[in-house]
Amino acid sequence: MSKHIPIAVVGSGYVGLVAAVCFAEMGHDVICVDNDERKVAALRGGDTLIHENHLPELLERYRNTKVRFTTDLAEATRECQAIFIAVGTPQSETGDADLSYVEAVTCEIARSIDTYKVIVEKSTVPVYTNEWISRALERNGVARHLFDVVSNPEFLREGTAVCDFLHPDRIVVGADSERAAAVLNAIYAPLTSGEYYERTSGIPGVCSVSQPPPFLLTSTKSAEIIKHASNAFLALKISFINAVSNLCEATNANVEQVARGMGLDSRIGPRFLRPGIGYGGSCFPKDVAAFRSVAEQLGIDFSLLTEVEKINVQQKRRFLSKVRSALWTLRGKRLGVLGLAFKGETDDIRESPAIELVRMFLGEGCSITAFDPAAIQRTEEILPAGPNLKYVDDAYAAAADADALLILTDWSEFAALDLQRLNQALRYPIIIDGRNMYDPAVMTENGFTYLSVGRPTAH
Ligand code: NAD
Repeated sequence: MSKHIPIAVVGSGYVGLVAAVCFAEMGHDVICVDNDERKVAALRGGDTLIHENHLPELLERYRNTKVRFTTDLAEATRECQAIFIAVGTPQSETGDADLSYVEAVTCEIARSIDTYKVIVEKSTVPVYTNEWISRALERNGVARHLFDVVSNPEFLREGTAVCDFLHPDRIVVGADSERAAAVLNAIYAPLTSGEYYERTSGIPGVCSVSQPPPFLLTSTKSAEIIKHASNAFLALKISFINAVSNLCEATNANVEQVARGMGLDSRIGPRFLRPGIGYGGSCFPKDVAAFRSVAEQLGIDFSLLTEVEKINVQQKRRFLSKVRSALWTLRGKRLGVLGLAFKGETDDIRESPAIELVRMFLGEGCSITAFDPAAIQRTEEILPAGPNLKYVDDAYAAAADADALLILTDWSEFAALDLQRLNQALRYPIIIDGRNMYDPAVMTENGFTYLSVGRPTAH
């Protein structure tokens, strides 16, 4: 039987909220803290405030029982043994991670530590942050024997966050003390021992089968670097295949065949070899920039990361040029847009390449009618509807009377549209697909001029 640990999670966003309900699902009692009163009230009432598969069910199962919500960090610190920090670490103007939220939480925690606590850094942070947290706790009067600071980076992906949390590829814990490592070991024991998988049938149809994940114990610095290096490597893989897709376009080769041929090599692997309009989201852009900045500060030449970023920027410009080449000119053209979120199955629009492209097309004098299954409300907050920008309720309304339809986000429902209906809705049957959602031959059969990324047009 696993030991239940009282846990506080500070920050109830995409990571903190998922972590909180998943820790409850694993058997622990959790206090979820946020300094946004409106958010805390909504969560208490059962509103997740974010679109994330399976999150509403888990919140309903545990809210106000095994997961309590509060703005009172002091009380949560006193009541809990492990305090997870899951607040944002956005990019600052210089490219570094802005750690001011982590610092603010640390100083607040310091005021309430009276017995031994493990402070767990779950936010993505640069190497040495754990050392800074320790220093800040001591500077704020906490005796060294009353705490340990541990790094436990999070690898979940939005859209599949609950499954990723409960069925991770690995659990990385950076701990420099045995006592703290033992607490983290106990927290994750339901997963690492397989006990959780034996007692639950999982979430039907999604993640019911699982091998217990490995528990990788490292130094705190290694754990911090593992997270940045992992995200930078994934971004590199995307930029690499995007550059290869451009080469395929120039030679009339097919990037899908190339990626398959590469991915069958077990040293390379098939995942993250899908070309598109570039990576975005709240993690890859800022984590690549922060990792580059760490290297710079340490005097290490990691200009490979600058190239990764450069290719990513170019990929959006290439897509714009592709649309221009299909429509001759852009000014005054009416474009239907499918997708605003940075990827499918989420409402997160932070650093979304789709929104960047919408802005670029508006700047070129196009008018846009856009649809996204979950991200319209968030988009409207930063890009309000106007004479040249309209939001609509479904894909066919976005296509209505448009000069071309652009697919910018890989929502699974965009791969299953009624092609005849789309064809009839469009003024000209032109689809420019930034996510390679369709087979070019099928699109040609259905009467479309269809352009995608790195694949020849079927005739
Ligand atoms: P988020 O913006 O969705 O959530 C952060 C939350 O922290 C917000 O609810 C905010 O109100 C709260 N907060 C800020 N200051 C606070 C304070 N002083 N006290 C209490 N609450 C406070 O961010 P997120 O996407 O959940 O990301 C959190 C961290 O996890 C980041 O470092 C991110 O890089 C990392 N991460 C994110 C993902 C992802 O897919 N979103 C995946 C892995 C790691």
